Amino acid sequence: MSKNKGSESVKVVVRCRPLNRKEESNGPVGGILQMDLRLGQVILRNPRAPASEPQKTFTFDGVYDANSKQGDLYDESVRPLIDSVLAGFNGTIFAYGQTGTGKTYTMQGAWMDPEKRGVIPNAFDHIFTHISRSQSDRQYLVRASYLEIYLEEVRDLLDPNHGNARALELRESPESGVYVRDLTSCVCKSIKEIEEVMNVGNQARAVGATDMNEHSSRSHALFLITVECSQPGPDGRKHIRVGRLNLVDLAGSERQAKTGVQGERLKEAAKINLSLSALGNVISALADGRSSHVPYRDSKLTRLLQDSLGGNAKTVMVATLGPAPQHYDETLTTLRYANRAKNIQNQPRVNEDPKDALLREFQMEIARLRAQLNHRKWRSKQKKEQVDGEGWEGDGDEETEGEEDEEEGVEKEAEEYVKLQEQRLEREKQDIREDQFMLADEKQRLLGEKERMMGDLRKEQEATEQLTAKYKAMESKLLVGGKNIIDHTNEQQKMLEVKRHEIAEQTRSEREIQQQMLVQDEETVELRETFTSLQQEVEAKTKKLKKLYAKLQCIKAEIQDVNDEHVRSRQELEQTQNELTRELKFKYLIIENFIPPEEKNKIMNRLTFDPEEDQWKFQPLVPAESKSSQMKKRPASAVGYKRPISQYARVAIAMGAHSRYRAENIMFLELDMTPPNTASLDHSEPNQNHSVDNSPTKDRGVRKSRSWCQTPKSITSSSSNVSLAACHTATPMTAQ
Ligand code: ADP
Ligand code: MG
Repeated sequence: MSKNKGSESVKVVVRCRPLNRKEESNGPVGGILQMDLRLGQVILRNPRAPASEPQKTFTFDGVYDANSKQGDLYDESVRPLIDSVLAGFNGTIFAYGQTGTGKTYTMQGAWMDPEKRGVIPNAFDHIFTHISRSQSDRQYLVRASYLEIYLEEVRDLLDPNHGNARALELRESPESGVYVRDLTSCVCKSIKEIEEVMNVGNQARAVGATDMNEHSSRSHALFLITVECSQPGPDGRKHIRVGRLNLVDLAGSERQAKTGVQGERLKEAAKINLSLSALGNVISALADGRSSHVPYRDSKLTRLLQDSLGGNAKTVMVATLGPAPQHYDETLTTLRYANRAKNIQNQPRVNEDPKDALLREFQMEIARLRAQLNHRKWRSKQKKEQVDGEGWEGDGDEETEGEEDEEEGVEKEAEEYVKLQEQRLEREKQDIREDQFMLADEKQRLLGEKERMMGDLRKEQEATEQLTAKYKAMESKLLVGGKNIIDHTNEQQKMLEVKRHEIAEQTRSEREIQQQMLVQDEETVELRETFTSLQQEVEAKTKKLKKLYAKLQCIKAEIQDVNDEHVRSRQELEQTQNELTRELKFKYLIIENFIPPEEKNKIMNRLTFDPEEDQWKFQPLVPAESKSSQMKKRPASAVGYKRPISQYARVAIAMGAHSRYRAENIMFLELDMTPPNTASLDHSEPNQNHSVDNSPTKDRGVRKSRSWCQTPKSITSSSSNVSLAACHTATPMTAQ
């Protein structure tokens, strides 16, 4: 299975959007971010701090400033990842940042403008262009799914009744890791089709949300593409590689106020950013490298991205930033988050020949259909030969067997055969009609028979047509390299593309080298220096001291910042905890005072926690299997009888003594034919019904038909008279 044993770190790039009109009008403060594209550095200025305070510098795998183009980001940072996915690796790109900083712009962009198309549409182009340009011995199957996570519920955006559908469950399998059960997956044959899938999902997202702005900033959207590729290996057998690509537009990372809300709203608020804070914890745990426990299971998002963070995947994180001074705190948090993510190590490997590859199933199904068609072809050929032998339309065909261009051959041949047969039957019918020596009855019978034969023939033809259609539909789903999509780009354009990749590649490697040089510079500066005089040495060392002092200050400020943040988040957690405790006390109060203890115990004994669904569930009152076994087993006293029966009764039956013991025979049962006993509750008409008879035998006869309104006359209170008066008219009818 594994090809590449090496591990690699998560690639983190940072992108800053331009100041928007509102921010520009706020004053000439300017941005708080400075970006060094060549070095891949971001320098953050605190607008509230004195000028003497050192600025914060962060280094990333790539930085993109306000002037950066969508295409630059794609070519430099995303293209290599998509290439890996096409080679059979898992890949993930996620956009992280505060609401309004350009996550959706980066992932989707403006579809209409080719310059502004985001990562997702560019990836579509990339994937299908790659397929069209690959060799013709390769077969591809591309599938897409689209889901969102909102309030910790996974929803399928491609499900037609997405709004009402149940939240989906997550499952785990050793083959494909964590996956979403029953998620719709659409096979896509072209860019147009996959774009359609995306549009359908986006519309569902917009429709499902009551307040689009709030909803989209609080939900995570995941677009999943699976590319399966089958290719003959050196052993001559076809091997399948499966690349899975997750394109993730995360919820806004800004801190959500959780305090001051109660009850359901509190639970909701606690859930809103649960996935995101869990993601932060997972990143911290992984970046730390020392923690043995990574809390993937804390949220749906982290479970779904489990492979992408510290597992079998190549991952790119795009952290988006806003340049406005009022967002300094959020910007700093995002930069810290991104900085931490750089340290995560993944172990990507090529997914080769996984058991659950759909392409294999498709290939098998296609082979089966082809075999069926071939069989039909062979049969119709045989029949045709028979027909030819009999002398009808004797144009003997010389078609060679074992050729490859089946479908058309089969269709043509089947059609020809059917035509011949129809002609022949028509002629036979004609002959029968014209035959003067035949009896009318006989003629009718023979004609009927011929009609039936025609019907059979047509049915068979229809079946063949259906089979051919199915076969073609199946086959069209598989994309063959260099065949299905006509590549209109000319050689010059292709060359241009290649050159662009080369330049992107070069820029990247240049940046890496620059970064390495910077690190080495600091380390080796003292080795290179030789001092001629004491004075010189003092100067150099003072300079170095200053440098180090500045660094120390930076780190101290950093520690202070982190501490402040820690205290803040702890306070928030404590507040949330207080709210929850209060809520809990309230519930306890109700339970202790208003629910009988035995009921409470019964309920508590029946409850079990389902970790998969993250919910408490009731166990059935009687376990299903024990119930069925109870039903199956007959008590010893009932063997051979309908119901348990005593020894005495058995003897009595054998003796034929008393009719009571003659088992159950409806013929011997005397039905109680006395009219049912009803009591009139209306005192004004005392004679209308029978009087109440309380004798035990009579009472038994009517017990079944007695209802609450047939209570004895003893009820005298006026209120019951009024309320039960309505029953009076109905009672005699129902009782008889
Ligand atoms: P988010 O998804 O993070 O909430 P959006 O992607 O919706 O943010 O971006 C907010 C606004 O900023 C949009 O109007 C978008 O067009 C604009 N924007 C974001 N990034 C850029 C960019 N790099 N260049 C130009 N406009 C941008
Ligand atoms: Mg958005």
